[in-house]
Amino acid sequence: MSDTPSPSDNPQANRREFLTGQSLLKQISSAGEALVDQLMGEELANSRFHAGPTVRLGTRAMACEFDVIFNPSTEGGLKVASEVLALINQLEDQMTVYRDHSEISQLNRVASKQPIRVEPRLFELLSRACDLSISTEGAFDLTSGPLVSLWSRCQRELNLPQQDSLQATLAAVGARHLCLDPQTGTLHFKHPETTLNLGAIGKGYALDRGAELLQNAGIENWMIHGGQSSILAHGNHREGQGWPVGIRNPQMPDRLLATVLLRDRGMGTSGSGTKFFRLAGTRYGHIIDPRTGWPSEGMLSVSVMAPDAASADALATAFFVLGVEKSLEFCHNHPEIQAILVPLPEPGRRLQPSVVRIPEEDVEFTSEALPRFHQ
Ligand code: AMP
Ligand code: MG
Repeated sequence: MSDTPSPSDNPQANRREFLTGQSLLKQISSAGEALVDQLMGEELANSRFHAGPTVRLGTRAMACEFDVIFNPSTEGGLKVASEVLALINQLEDQMTVYRDHSEISQLNRVASKQPIRVEPRLFELLSRACDLSISTEGAFDLTSGPLVSLWSRCQRELNLPQQDSLQATLAAVGARHLCLDPQTGTLHFKHPETTLNLGAIGKGYALDRGAELLQNAGIENWMIHGGQSSILAHGNHREGQGWPVGIRNPQMPDRLLATVLLRDRGMGTSGSGTKFFRLAGTRYGHIIDPRTGWPSEGMLSVSVMAPDAASADALATAFFVLGVEKSLEFCHNHPEIQAILVPLPEPGRRLQPSVVRIPEEDVEFTSEALPRFHQ
């Protein structure tokens, strides 16, 4: 369904429309003709995993489309789906750095001056994000905000950062600058220029929160995604095992690279596919290595599967920075993680994804890939 309601255009009016159910009616009228999700697309429809049509309810948030997807005739599904989507809009309003009134913007303005109380669930997320920064040795870093801004400026002005401004920006980056006090539920930045940016984990977190509503409503079989790059799936698509999910070919984004069966897990995909700029023949992507301050190179795309979508989202970004060897090492020490790591191939060579801990029967690659399976 392409004409999904878009509460971010006019949040109040559209959210009201959402809750009064008008948009539900619009959706239901077309939901009857069961939908094949875009994620599945025509290619996926031909895959051996394809199990038939779905019903979908969507909204625009966090600069992408979010959808809640069910099997046809899921009782009560559409009502909960609209609540999930309303919650996702609220979470965007709390976490975005693009609105001055968001809680994250307020923390970014004040937390270097004094400790500030944080909404309890956001506090929990920040604590987990700090742990993920530590376990990935700083490859995922929720304090990357100043670096992200520096490189956005470079993209606008089409230049590279001066070494001294890069060094000064790097000095403000690192989970070591965050003081999260569980006793008082407060956050304090120990460096005056430190700021938070949840761009690499926020979508996954929003899905995990949405899942709580679906589970509380007793709905068993569903999939939610944000921009197709963060996905959370529960139960089965019709009679199949899990939900078939397409992974795009990073070199030809209109084509699939693989189809994976996702069940009771989150999946995050990071790539520099469309978000990059070119300067003097070099490509600078939007994922920054917080340890050097430079856009990360070497990987084309990374998909990570984890028990929750926030971890999958953060680890996909981290693995993109870490590269294949370090990511394999991380997975070796974290048995709950599965991954598909696609490094930049030698010129003229086929893509060689490293597939970590995904059973061969749960994944199907197109002929454009030569996968290597790791246990
Ligand atoms: P994702 O698409 O989930 O990989 O997230 C990428 C977004 O997170 C970027 O657009 C930046 O806003 C931010 N970001 C970039 N590099 C990092 C990093 N190494 N750690 C955390 N966030 C990052
Ligand atoms: Mg991410």
